[in-house]
Amino acid sequence: MARVVQKYGGTSVGSVKKIENIANRVARVVEDGNEVVVVVSAMGKSTDQLVQLANDITKNPSKREMDMLLTTGEQVTIALLTMALQKRGVDALSYTGGQAGILTEANHGNARIREIDSARLNEQLEAGKVLVVAGFQGIMEDGSITTLGRGGSDTTAVALAAATKADRCEIYTDVTGVFTTDPRYVEKARKLQAISYDEMLEMANLGAGVLHPRAVEFAKNYDVPLMVASSMVEETGTMIEEEVTVEKNLVVRGIAFENDVTKITVAGLPNRIDSLPKLFSILSSHGVNVDIIIQNQYDANHVNISFSITQCSLKDTVACLEQAKEELEFETLHHEEELAKVSIVGSGMISNPGVAATMFEALAKNDIFIKMVSTSEIKVSAVVSEDDMVMAVEVLHDAFKLDEVLAEAPEKQLV
Ligand code: ADP
Ligand code: ASP
Ligand code: MG
Repeated sequence: MARVVQKYGGTSVGSVKKIENIANRVARVVEDGNEVVVVVSAMGKSTDQLVQLANDITKNPSKREMDMLLTTGEQVTIALLTMALQKRGVDALSYTGGQAGILTEANHGNARIREIDSARLNEQLEAGKVLVVAGFQGIMEDGSITTLGRGGSDTTAVALAAATKADRCEIYTDVTGVFTTDPRYVEKARKLQAISYDEMLEMANLGAGVLHPRAVEFAKNYDVPLMVASSMVEETGTMIEEEVTVEKNLVVRGIAFENDVTKITVAGLPNRIDSLPKLFSILSSHGVNVDIIIQNQYDANHVNISFSITQCSLKDTVACLEQAKEELEFETLHHEEELAKVSIVGSGMISNPGVAATMFEALAKNDIFIKMVSTSEIKVSAVVSEDDMVMAVEVLHDAFKLDEVLAEAPEKQLV
């Protein structure tokens, strides 16, 4: 007997028929003698539809009421799935995030889980109940309902697996596992047997929407064995674990990408020691999240600073910089929209100096112009035009031979 947390995403519970199908799957796992916690998302695109309803009323809804609204989506699913399980004779009970003891920080819209009071869940599991918990939600200390950020049901599942000391956490979705890159965009994408927590965390943070980044963080911090697999097809999924033993020496394991990147250039800043701290403290006091930063000399007395932000913070960024123009003493402000960030990720990169060169050569050979670059020990990111994004991913997928299973030596992967 094992204690298992299973999570089913929006597409997997998108209709009554699909919910009945998930109930059959869960009933089988229960019949096999396992203790089961099921975490579910809102049905299909219903979270998007709820967002639209709010936007139809106001362009600026209060964050508290937005959370109140969005959490209803998951509550529909927990009730329906529990009914479907009960119809099959399974002793199931539904729980909202708050009822499941998920306490979050006071931050509507994107709250982090602070702790989980798992006493009640553990008691019910030991009493033989199957628990169906609403993903993506928790409560603040004052009892207000919060959400964990879009895609946050994954995090609910992994956090509950850690809190209930489950043997494993299984994330069921509309793909058969974690692929070398998003299979919806790249036909040659290949399913990985395994990926390390660190690689998956980079991939998730760099745009691979298959897992919520905080879910991976939780899994790593609490050593939760995590698996991603299909909710529809019986096929072995991908294991996310501390050390990967299959294809151990991969230099690049995957490619992540995201669009809606904007580059801002503050030109002609005084070449003084206080220019940079002043600029970035103004940005941070306005809540602007900056990603890649590049500085270069403009003339003897001036520098240019370029940085990337998400498209949605462009208006606020330009407004706060224009307002601070006199204080910062810069000459001009430029921005470039419709950019994308394409990132290669792999823990074998640390000891392989040629990786960035291979990446840049492959992009250049295909006339893809790189506008910004950033690196860490296990990733290289390049900002390119949004129009080039998918082609850049395909080119890099070929350059690093990601469609081929690596037999032994890492050098094989480099062209
Ligand atoms: P769910 O509703 O089940 O949470 P999501 O849409 O959040 O599903 O995540 C699954 C989607 O993630 C897939 O349909 C796929 O398009 C996308 N995806 C992005 N990157 C990857 C990747 N590297 N491997 C697999 N899927 C990926
Ligand atoms: N329903 C939420 C969303 O669409 C949470 C989730 O599916 O993980 O973002
Ligand atoms: Mg998801």
